[in-house]
Amino acid sequence: MLDGKKSGTETFLVKVFAVVPLLALIAAIPIAWGWGLSWTDIALAASFYVVTGLGVTVGFHRYFTHGAFKAKRGLRVALAVAGSMAMQGPVIGWVADHRRHHAYADREGDPHSPWRFGTSAKALAKGFWYAHMGWLFQRDRTNAKRFAPDLLKDRAIRVVDRLFPLLTAATLLLPALLGGLISLSWWGALTAFFWASLVRVAALHHVTWSVNSICHMIGDRPFASRDKSANFWPLAVLSFGESWHNSHHADPTGARHGVRRGQIDISARVIWLFEKLHWVSHVRWPKPERLARKLATQPIQ
Ligand SMILES: [Zn+2]
Ligand SMILES: [Zn+2]
Repeated sequence: MLDGKKSGTETFLVKVFAVVPLLALIAAIPIAWGWGLSWTDIALAASFYVVTGLGVTVGFHRYFTHGAFKAKRGLRVALAVAGSMAMQGPVIGWVADHRRHHAYADREGDPHSPWRFGTSAKALAKGFWYAHMGWLFQRDRTNAKRFAPDLLKDRAIRVVDRLFPLLTAATLLLPALLGGLISLSWWGALTAFFWASLVRVAALHHVTWSVNSICHMIGDRPFASRDKSANFWPLAVLSFGESWHNSHHADPTGARHGVRRGQIDISARVIWLFEKLHWVSHVRWPKPERLARKLATQPIQ
C-alpha cells in the first residue's frame, strides 16, 4: 500500500505551501478593509480559482482518479496541467492518494479519515484536523505502482507530474505578471500576487480539504454506504459539486455527483459542455435505476 517515505525537504515544502496561503487568507480580511483590492485582482483571482479548481474536480478527480469519461489527448494534458496549478501535489500522487481513500474509506488504510482516532468529541476534533490538513504532513507515500499504474504508463502525464515545481511557480507568478501588465504598475503586480495567487490558492485548498474533513462528518446520507461520506450543501457551489460526497461514494465513477433534483454540480455542467464540443466521450452519466438501488436501503454503519 505504501511506497517509502517522503524526504524532510519535501514535507517541509508541503508545510510552507499549505500554511503560507492560509496566513495570507487570514491577513486578507483587514487588508481588504479599504485598500489593496482592485477589480483586476478580483477577476484574476476568480479566473485562476475556476481554472485550477476545475482542473482538480473535473481533471484530477472525476477523470484521472475515477475515469468518469474519456478525454481527447490535448484535453487530458490540459486537465493535468490545470489541476497541478491548484498546488495540491503532482497529479500521480494526488490520484494514488484519492484511490486509496476510496479503497479504504473511513477504515484503516484511508489516508485522511476524520474517524481514525475514535468517536469521542476530542477524537473527532483531532480527526477533523487530521482529515483537513494534518494528513498532508505525514511522511507515508502512497504506492503509485499499485494505485495509479495507468498514469505511470503515460509519458505525457509523467512529464506533467515531474513539472509540478515549475507549474507551482507558474500558478504563483502568472497572476502577478498579469496584474502588473494590466495596471502597468508594481503595486498592481503585488496586489494581484496577494489576492489571485496566495488568497486564491488558500481558498481552494480549504474547499478541497473540506471535502475530506467536513464531507466525511456532517451532512445528509441519502445513499447506503460503508463509509461516513455525506452531502454538505453549503459547499456545493464553491467546490464545483464535489461536496455531494455521499452520492459520489455511492457511485464513484459517475460524472455527476449532484445527482438529485436541485443539486448544483458545476463540474458536471463543464463535462456536459466538453461532451457537446466532442472533447470528451463515454461519459458515465448516473443511471436512475442504479441510483434507486443504492438509496439508503441498509442501515449506515
Ligand atoms: Zn471521501
Ligand atoms: Zn472520489
